[in-house]
Amino acid sequence: MRSPDELTELFRAQGRKVTAQRQCIFRVLQGDVTHPTADSVYEAARAEVPTMSLKTVYQTLHELAALGEIAALDLGTGTTRFDPNREAVHHHLVCRRCGKVRDLYADFSAVTVPPGAEAGFEVSDAEVVFRGTCAECRRTTRSRRRREALAAT
Ligand SMILES: [Zn+2]
Ligand SMILES: [Zn+2]
Repeated sequence: MRSPDELTELFRAQGRKVTAQRQCIFRVLQGDVTHPTADSVYEAARAEVPTMSLKTVYQTLHELAALGEIAALDLGTGTTRFDPNREAVHHHLVCRRCGKVRDLYADFSAVTVPPGAEAGFEVSDAEVVFRGTCAECRRTTRSRRRREALAAT
């Protein structure tokens, strides 16, 4: 994603609306590695600009995605996740328990469709999603198990 200043210029040049709310959303997204949902962008933006509306958040995210500045991802967490990292090709780690998403840098260029298995598709790209349990969820599971073990003695 471009910087908030560059996005402001881009939006102006394209005759799109530029407001304090929208600029706040640009700032909130910049450098966000959590792959936020629209709701979490809204929460973060509202902390800065109390007049923020969820509708503005949706509309701005939609426009940024249409411009290719952010990616709208369906990673199976139940809500669309927004990714401002479009600079580097990457894949994702997804926590099954809490829905945490992190970037994964690894080379999967060797992942190909076996000849004859393409079912008439012309395959252009592939995404690899690794699912598992994040460090925090593993910690809470461990301490719960420890508590249960203590309670059982
Ligand atoms: Zn987790
Ligand atoms: Zn990502």
